[in-house]
Amino acid sequence: MFRVRDKTIKVEAPAKINLYLDVLEKRFDGYHEVKMVMQTVSLCDRLTISVDKSLEDVQLEVINADIPENDDNLIIKSIRLLQEYYQIPPLKIVVDKEIPVAAGLAGGSSDAAATIWGIAELLELQIKQEQLAYLASEIGSDVPFCLLGGTSLAEGRGEKLTNASTLPQCYILLVKPPFGVSTGQVYKAVNPTDEADSRADKIISALSKGSLYKVIENMYNKMENVVFGWHPELLDLTKRLLDFGALTVRMSGSGPTIFGVFESYLDAYNVKKSLLKEMPEHEIFLTTPRDKGVGKEH
Ligand code: ATP
Repeated sequence: MFRVRDKTIKVEAPAKINLYLDVLEKRFDGYHEVKMVMQTVSLCDRLTISVDKSLEDVQLEVINADIPENDDNLIIKSIRLLQEYYQIPPLKIVVDKEIPVAAGLAGGSSDAAATIWGIAELLELQIKQEQLAYLASEIGSDVPFCLLGGTSLAEGRGEKLTNASTLPQCYILLVKPPFGVSTGQVYKAVNPTDEADSRADKIISALSKGSLYKVIENMYNKMENVVFGWHPELLDLTKRLLDFGALTVRMSGSGPTIFGVFESYLDAYNVKKSLLKEMPEHEIFLTTPRDKGVGKEH
């Protein structure tokens, strides 16, 4: 018997950007140690999860993206993991993808976090926060952050999180060029840093003081060197955003999404309009910092 309060739940799965990303030594388990400052933004995928007893197994429908609807999808992988621990009735999941795929925005990881959280809510599984975080980390290194959201220092392989103050009010223009980048390939090509510098700590301190400018001064992404080498047009895109008045421009995660930070909504809006005219093949989203991770859609 399943005590199902609602038959359906709608869950938001927000994207993230990296305010700081450094890659440190490779560990015995094959992962690299990382030091990152992660920030959730307002761009979201939307999942609708329903109990459907007419089905024999889970069924996934993806709207708006060309990604697998089978066990290769992180949504189904998350359900398979939950099935190892809990009795899960047949579910129908529809995911409306807004977050571009293979973009450095953790779209898949956030969908996984939304699946785990959403199913626990829908079926009233009463899973403790630590167990949710453990399940999330089994799916991928970024998934625990996507569950928690807001702003965090992320260490270990990305799963050790320390909460930080949210980025002060600003407008973040995400620009996704018309190609993807494989995170695995970037890790293979990156030359690890011997010892992390103090910029991540400076960002955390600036966040606690609410100083956007001090955060911006210390933003960094170790992976830019590698990915800009493969795709020099990303450097042109960065320069273009700076010409347009962005306070700073960085790549998110393993890219290729580039983001520009603006203080004024109108400036960000006008830059989005101009860029869309100049480069219509790019996807451009005007977002704001968000102070939480996955959650119920309102
Ligand atoms: P990260 O920032 O965590 O490195 P990303 O944004 O670069 O992630 P994703 O969009 O999560 O990359 O997708 C990377 C790969 O994962 C794609 O090849 C895609 O086919 C696969 N994938 C599996 N499930 C999903 C999902 N639900 N959404 C997006 N991609 C998925």
